[in-house]
Amino acid sequence: MYNYGECEICATPLEVKSIQQDFWIKGKLVVIENVPAGVCPRCGEKVVNAEVGEHIAEILKDRKLIDQAPTISVPLIKYEFEFGHV
Ligand SMILES: [Zn+2]
Repeated sequence: MYNYGECEICATPLEVKSIQQDFWIKGKLVVIENVPAGVCPRCGEKVVNAEVGEHIAEILKDRKLIDQAPTISVPLIKYEFEFGHV
């Protein structure tokens, strides 16, 4: 099993987990599930190793794969509060 070492932010040993990562590709939200990563149980920092990072880059370059992937709908909320109103 890959050892992710310690969290760069708070030095807590990272736990091996499967995570979801989301990316915006040309205006389209793409979610990759089941990504192996080191997750900090204390501050939530997530780290993927170089090999996983390369695989993700390959997936995101594959237009056909993205076009054929199942889609989900996500809530879309417009932020309507005015800044500076007290
Ligand atoms: Zn941390």
